[in-house]
Amino acid sequence: MNTHSTIRVDGSREPVEDARRRQLIDVTIDSLAELGFAGTTLAQIAGRAGVSPGLVAHYFGDKESLLDAAFRALARRVGERVRFRLRQAESARGRIQAVIDANLAPEEFEQKTGTAWLAFWGQVLHDPRLRRVQSAYQRRTLGTLRAALKPLLPADEAGSLAAMIAAMIDGVWLRAALSGWREADSASARALLTAFVEGRLRAAPRAQPPGVRPPQPGERFASTNPATGETLGYVTVAGTAEIDAAVRAAQRGQAEWAALPAAERARRLRAAAALLRARNDALAELETRDTGKPIQETRVVDVASGADCIEYFAAVGQSLAGEHLDFGSAAFGYTRREPLGVVAGIGAWNYPLQIACWKAAPALACGNAMIFKPAELTPLTAVKLEEIFLEAGLPAGVFQVVQGFADTGRLLTRHPDIRKVSLTGEVGTGKAVMVDAAASLKNVTLELGGKSPLIVFEDATLDNAVGGALLANFYSSGQVCSNGTRVFVHRAVKAAFLERLVARVAAMRIGDPLDPATQVGPLVSQAHMHKVLGYIERGREEGARVLIGGHRVMDGALARGHFVAPTVFDGCRDEMTIVREEIFGPVMSVLEFESEAEVIERANATEFGLSAGVFTNDLARGHRVIAALQAGTCWINHYNVTPVELPFGGVKLSGLGRENGRAAIEHYTQLKSVYVALGDVEAPY
Ligand code: NDP
Repeated sequence: MNTHSTIRVDGSREPVEDARRRQLIDVTIDSLAELGFAGTTLAQIAGRAGVSPGLVAHYFGDKESLLDAAFRALARRVGERVRFRLRQAESARGRIQAVIDANLAPEEFEQKTGTAWLAFWGQVLHDPRLRRVQSAYQRRTLGTLRAALKPLLPADEAGSLAAMIAAMIDGVWLRAALSGWREADSASARALLTAFVEGRLRAAPRAQPPGVRPPQPGERFASTNPATGETLGYVTVAGTAEIDAAVRAAQRGQAEWAALPAAERARRLRAAAALLRARNDALAELETRDTGKPIQETRVVDVASGADCIEYFAAVGQSLAGEHLDFGSAAFGYTRREPLGVVAGIGAWNYPLQIACWKAAPALACGNAMIFKPAELTPLTAVKLEEIFLEAGLPAGVFQVVQGFADTGRLLTRHPDIRKVSLTGEVGTGKAVMVDAAASLKNVTLELGGKSPLIVFEDATLDNAVGGALLANFYSSGQVCSNGTRVFVHRAVKAAFLERLVARVAAMRIGDPLDPATQVGPLVSQAHMHKVLGYIERGREEGARVLIGGHRVMDGALARGHFVAPTVFDGCRDEMTIVREEIFGPVMSVLEFESEAEVIERANATEFGLSAGVFTNDLARGHRVIAALQAGTCWINHYNVTPVELPFGGVKLSGLGRENGRAAIEHYTQLKSVYVALGDVEAPY
């Protein structure tokens, strides 16, 4: 029996300490409503609550902590009301109303609570702790509104209407307060907001936000530049009829392609690689416009890495060979590596052209045809690759690009005449693809997400380790699957490491990705930027310390794009959300460790297993630690370099199968075993 408890309204017991805290918070809210911020003191709260000031100090420390707790309690209360109403809501429109109603409910929208809220808001500018509570509260409200609006409006419109609704709620509150609460009428305030939302939704164009209710087959959708918002072009969604036609064309093309001698296929693939290199700058510019990745990256990495891969597999394809097996003088056997037929590739948005090349090169070199669907956010450069393959002499249909959203992807993974699917994407998508592929027993290659560790030992060359950590976190604005976002640094060198790291991050140039001097461009979309900013906020809330960055960049023209400053968190703990989940943005978490065994255990304590890196000058240790890490792609004294000769891929939830290297051949060929008799057949019948 627990005697240190009181009975709650619902009959359950609440510990006395919690009840006391709650009472003091309630008294604080009353006091704020009556006396305002300045008039609310610990002594005065103690007097109202009938306890000693020492007891208040025992529970909360100082006035600031008590006020912080009271503000959180107010925000939590509204949050619970919103969640309760959201659970009752049955439609997107109902969910918007739930937010409005909960914020302007009669029990909330009244003098006492309102005055307490305003007392806090007045202090938010001066007190960082209160600012954090306020911004977390605001972010949650905006996030809920945006999510509710997403099925009804295009993403950008949903974002701006969510912001307007939130601002109107604040405005209604403020007006009520300025009127001395004479105008604090919950029903008319809600009616005002409801009429506003209805009007905006009626005036809205088409209710088809990308990714939620995407355009239907045959309809076009736009690709936009994430640095400026400008429309770059339109592509048409492929539906069942288009996919069926593509499969038929691929079957025809594949028969012709596979019948060519391997040397001829290799020659044409090399011609395609040469065209890619010749058009490097134009393709890099298009990639930069479509993805927002800095031109200084796309000019040297994206196109070149694609061309490297095609050249490599041209050679590998030409040297494909089976085995010869000796069964004595009367027989022998051999194996043939044969193409699968028509295969599908589905790409993510971070390396659109490179992913298309990494998938197409082994597939085509082995004599298959590939139908490729780029991510809907970055559809443009794959089309250029299709043109290049045709120009290089590949038969029509051997490499085709189809456009669309997840539904188009599903048509590929479920198609009975497609023999394999290779996906680069999120873990959840990987699981969905594998389930769909199971119906026709398709072979799958899954290149999925990660949360990889990078370990810096005390004997590492620190400048190299800092360079590695930068490459592991901020390339492509952090939108790289293999990024080493959990940076474990030995305690003995952490301070020096952080000092050098922060100095180098501070010098990074954020800006127009088409400017060759720019090192950090925007994130791929507004929705993704909000997701990344949400993680940063979560990191702060959970107690990590931002050493640098931690905000959206809005300077001048950058306000039109989705720029987030490279961010370094110190004081991270393994259980924090930012340390556990893939953020896919420029956010590094630095963690401290003391022993090799400890860091290996912590590094492996994740469901992901894509990559890992170790910085040490003790090579025996480097190999020992890498051998113990659960990851598919590893580096010693470097990070994120991916020569095509080395297989690339993950273990655990980070994926199945490998791209690049000779290992990829396994995924694009099937073995045929042949027994050849040289003598007579002796049958016992
Ligand atoms: P998504 O998983 O959202 O999308 C990947 C592709 O799959 C897109 O073309 C998407 O279409 C399509 N798709 C979505 N659902 C389905 C489905 N049910 N069936 C078939 N196709 C589907 O990934 P992102 O584009 O957001 O890319 C980021 C993710 O990719 C990160 O997790 C990152 O780690 C991972 N990644 C992994 C790499 C690796 O090599 N391991 C490399 C690069 C990224 P659409 O988007 O058009 O709707």
